Order: sequence, then C-alpha cells, then structure tokens
Amino acid sequence: MVERADIVVIGAGLGGLAAAVTAAGRGRRVLVLESDGSPGGYAQCFHRGPYRFDCSLHALNGLAPGGGMDTVYRELGIWDRVHLRRLDPLYVARFPDREIVAHADVYRYESDLIDQFPDEALGIRAYLDEASAVYRDTIRLYEDGVAGRQAGLEEFVTRFPTLVSVSGETWAQTITRHVDDPRLVAVLGALWPYAGLPPELVASVNGSVMAMAYGHHGGWYPEGGSGAVAWALERELRERGGEVRYSQTAARVDVRDGRVTAVETAEGLRVGAEVVISNANAPATMLEMVGRGHLPDDYVARVEAPGASYTVFNVYLGLERDVFGEQHLPHELFVCPDYDSLAQREAALSGDWGHADITVTDYTKVDPGCAPEGGGVVVLSAMVDWNYADVWGTGGDLAGYHENPAYLAVKERVADELVALADASVPGLAGAVGFREASTPLTNFAYTHNPLGAIEGYENTPANSGLGWLPQTTPIHNLFLAGAWTNGGGQNPAIQSGRSAAELALAALA
Ligand SMILES: Cc1cc2nc3c(=O)[nH]c(=O)nc-3n(C[C@H](O)[C@H](O)[C@H](O)COP(=O)(O)OP(=O)(O)OC[C@H]3O[C@@H](n4cnc5c(N)ncnc54)[C@H](O)[C@@H]3O)c2cc1C
Repeated sequence: MVERADIVVIGAGLGGLAAAVTAAGRGRRVLVLESDGSPGGYAQCFHRGPYRFDCSLHALNGLAPGGGMDTVYRELGIWDRVHLRRLDPLYVARFPDREIVAHADVYRYESDLIDQFPDEALGIRAYLDEASAVYRDTIRLYEDGVAGRQAGLEEFVTRFPTLVSVSGETWAQTITRHVDDPRLVAVLGALWPYAGLPPELVASVNGSVMAMAYGHHGGWYPEGGSGAVAWALERELRERGGEVRYSQTAARVDVRDGRVTAVETAEGLRVGAEVVISNANAPATMLEMVGRGHLPDDYVARVEAPGASYTVFNVYLGLERDVFGEQHLPHELFVCPDYDSLAQREAALSGDWGHADITVTDYTKVDPGCAPEGGGVVVLSAMVDWNYADVWGTGGDLAGYHENPAYLAVKERVADELVALADASVPGLAGAVGFREASTPLTNFAYTHNPLGAIEGYENTPANSGLGWLPQTTPIHNLFLAGAWTNGGGQNPAIQSGRSAAELALAALA
C-alpha cells in the first residue's frame, strides 16, 4: 500500500506527538507511524487490578506561569485536557545523618539549607543565584527559538551569559565554585538520579536547570499519569486532522539526492513524505533507517560517539495501605546511603544497591485515582546496568526474553532486594504490598526501542548537553529529529523539541 503525507512522524513518543499536533494545527497532512499499540513511548501507564502505574514520570517541570511549558501546553491544545497537581515539597533526600526537604520555593529551600550548613550561607546563596540565572537563560533561549530569533555568536554570549559560562562544566564544578563542604555537593545535587549522572559527571546546565525549574516553578504531576498527557496529545492530533498508525515500525527512510522521499515500515506500509520528523532514537534513525552511506563521516561520528544515557529498574507496588500518607512523606524520597554520589553510581552499576541511591515514589496523593480507597501506589527505582547478570539472565538473547525463566529469576531477585532496602527507609512498606511487578532495561528497550534501555537519549555529560546537543536538523535537508536524543531527556523537553522540530519541518515545506 502506498500513501502520502506532507509530514511523516516516526514514533508517537511525546516528542513525536508534539511535533505532529503542531504541524497538523497548521493545516498539514500528518501521519505518525508508531511501532507500539499505544501513544506516549515512555509516557504510558498500565493497569493491574485496582491499581494504575506510571511507567516513567516522577515530576514535570516548567508548568507554572513563566515556566515556559504552560504556554506550550496551551498551544498544543492540552492545557484544558490535562489536570495538573503541584508537588510541594518536591522531594525529601534522606542521608544517614540528615534529611533535606526540597520545597518548590527556592527561598525556602535556601533558608533550609542555610539552617543545616550555616557556615556556607554566602556560598549557598551565590550558587542558587547562579543556577537561577542559568535557568532563566534557558527559558529565554527557548522563547527565542519559538519566536524564530537566532542570536549570532557574539550576541549569544551577551544574551545568555551564565549559560555560556557554565557550558562545559560539570554540576559539581559550578557548585564548588561557591561552597567548600563536600557534603553540600551531594545535598545540592540530590536530584542527580533524575539526570542519571552524579554531580561530578553531569553537565552543570542539566543539573542547575532541573533543580531551579522545580525550585522556581514547582514540580507537577498530571492526574491519570504521564499516559494522560500522551492520550491528550493523540486526541488533539485527531481533532486537528492528523492520525497515528499503530503497530507500524519504520524500518527504512528512502533518501534520493539528499532528500527523504518515503518511509517504509517493517509491516510493509510505504508512505511518501515531503518532510520526515523522527522521534525514534537518533542512532537508529540516522545509521539504520537512513544509512551511513547518505551521511558525512563527521556526522556519523557525532551520532555514534557519545554514550547512551542511563537506564533503570522499576518495582511497581500496589499497597493495601497508604503507607506514605501514614508517615506524612511527600511524593518522592531519595534514599542516599552517604554523601559519595560517584561511589553510589558505581555501586548501582555493579548491582550493589545497598550502597546506591534509590528513589521511592508515592503516587497515591498526587494521582488519587491510581489506587483504591485506603490503598496506595509506590514505585521503587534504581539505576542499573544494561549488562547486569549478563544482560539480565538472557545471555544477550532477547527473543521471548519476558518468558525466559533465568530472566524472571534475576528480575524477582533484584525486586526483592529493592523492596527490602525501601522497607528499611519506609518501615511497613513491604508488609503492605498487595501487588508487585518489575520492569528492567529490557522492558524499556522493548517498548521504546531506545538502545540499552536509555531513558534520556545521550548521556547528560557537559560534552553532550546544552550547546552540545545533537542538532534537530540533519544532513538530510527534509529530515528532522525530535525527542530526548536531540534536546536532552525529560517529558517536557521532549514536547519542546517536538514543537521546534515541527517549526523546522513547516519552514522546509514553505
Ligand atoms: C522510569 C523512568 C522515569 C522517568 N522519569 C521522568 C520524570 O520524572 N520526568 C521527566 O520529565 N522525564 C522522565 N523520564 C524520561 C522521559 O520519560 C523521556 O525522556 C521522554 O518521555 C522521552 O520522550 P521521547 O519523545 O524522546 O520518546 P520515547 O519515549 O523514547 O518514545 C519514542 C517512541 O518512538 C517509537 N519508535 C521508536 N522506534 C520506532 C520505529 N522504528 N518506528 C515507529 N516507532 C518507533 C517508540 O515505540 C516510542 O513510542 C523517565 C523515564 C523513565 C523510563
């Protein structure tokens, strides 16, 4: 069967959906090809008995007025379709000798930190000022992008001075320009599990922007989970005349004379396209679907060189009691065994989760429909290595992996270990479990095709982030990229990148 569309979007993750909705709203015929049976990529939920679980989302950022994303949601037509709850406090970071409660109010956060580290008051203020300035620069940069304004190099340096000054730096380098106590690096960087690299390795821009986006504009959670955002986008797309074709896996992007002409799926569908936007991961899009032969060597090297970001193991718990509510705990608890984040990452990657940082997230209050009255939903997350236990017991043979007894045994053992660790921090948790299921990096890969189950595209190192992101334009003039592999990870960044990919695509069609 041969079809035609003005714009073919590969992948109905949030980046692909946002691109499709934007383009369809300008009267273009848009067809999205999605290999899964539902929209959202990582932004999906699943039901088990009376419980609803979110596959991914802990918190969204930027949704308060002035945070940038409220405007984007309105333009995409989903502001009134999605009901958001503000998270405050955003999280508690529990160290062996202290707890830090991060309120969604940067001044309160600052004064709490100063209470705990009074000798570092000046440094704490100076760091938070600098991080806030970096965050403001990124908002302005995005607004410029939306307005089609592109600063030349000299103007860029004066318009976004703090962004430029921290680019190339790690988060820890920025923090330690202001404070001396090494424990403060871990405390100020407690959100690092969201970026997958400890403060000593993660790009300063990632760390500071993430922390300040939540600090200034709060964290948010959509009722119905991240899947509700994906379905809202899908519905809006249909109302704007676009379509998602499910169970269609793009296998080949035809290129002639440096331009895409069509996309072909593994299922035999061929769609002629004026422009293509790919929300599939960049290495697969460029190196497999397009093919190295159509690309300059330096671009191939750029797509190949930086490593994939981290991956996670999740344990989904349906609780018979609201354990977090009983203990007055907020939505998110970071269990930090010590102040050595680098060692925690090493421990996580080697399977020694007792010395790793694990995240315990309660959805019961922020998404009340997720559990029956009096019950609860909690998800445990740990960073893990794709190769753990020789690729999770499969020996690397992923065919039918989810029924492989060796895989199931490894999965249950790791889940047991994480439940015991979480129970040590939240007593009574294990005893309240009425339902339990776990997901591994292989699950992530199976549902999204992201290599090594990566959840945020490329690793968030200084070289890959901010000014180092893989551009949304490609050497193929009418092919653009959207999603975590081109704009950094995270659900709202994926939505932003979809919107800007659509602008590039519409300009190419004009
Ligand atoms: C456990 C977990 C926790 C997270 N927590 C947060 C959080 O708290 N806050 C936050 O902002 N972000 C969080 N994230 C990260 C965030 O979910 C992702 O970075 C973001 O959703 C990625 O969106 P994307 O547009 O890049 O697409 P993806 O979600 O990667 O989806 C890509 C889509 O493309 C489809 N596709 C791929 N290849 C093909 C092909 N060849 N043909 C057709 N379709 C194809 C896939 O099936 C998929 O639907 C989390 C992720 C995980 C896994």
